[in-house]
Amino acid sequence: MARILLGRYCHSTPFLRSVPPTNTSHGWRGICIGKDLLEKQLSKVIGNGHQTSLWSEPWLSLETALAPMGPPTKETQFDTVATLISPTTKHWDREKIRQVLSELEQTILEIKVSTKGAEDTFVWLPTKNGVYSTKSGYYESIKKESLATLQCPLAISNFNWLGEVWNIQSSPKNKLLLWKAMKGALPTGENLRKRNIMTETRCPFCGEMETSEHLFIR
Ligand SMILES: [Zn+2]
Repeated sequence: MARILLGRYCHSTPFLRSVPPTNTSHGWRGICIGKDLLEKQLSKVIGNGHQTSLWSEPWLSLETALAPMGPPTKETQFDTVATLISPTTKHWDREKIRQVLSELEQTILEIKVSTKGAEDTFVWLPTKNGVYSTKSGYYESIKKESLATLQCPLAISNFNWLGEVWNIQSSPKNKLLLWKAMKGALPTGENLRKRNIMTETRCPFCGEMETSEHLFIR
């Protein structure tokens, strides 16, 4: 399956650089949506440095996706990380690093390069072994979403919650339920714990904290 899809859509550009054509299939479009999530949490493990762009790919850390701060000079803009590695010793070329990225000298020297010339590889940062899993991808996408909500309090405060809750076309029972959810008055695990009524407050299905948001939306 992967071979067919990659042959069809990624024969001239690598997967991460590919843009889905307008007439693409539903399935491939779906995969490409996942790619956006994948990209933000990928980092490169440097082997010989030849497959990693010096400026546009994150390779400086295995904790966050970190690329060197540009702007790159005209001479080095298309360079790979290999230009910082001595071809004879197969170790970092300290002189070259000082010329190009002097402020990162210490960080770079701490990265181990492959003396046997292994290729650079991708790692998925959220898991310990660096391999992507659907579960970790799911949690990362949720984290991103809730972060986005936190970061735009304006959008939330502009929304007339009280009016929306009471004026919707619905039964009084539903309105009351929504109002209670909004006011934090539902007996969810989270609210019961806040009031010291219950200590076991996790969702019985998945073990996450049982909040209204978790219960109704997630
Ligand atoms: Zn759950």
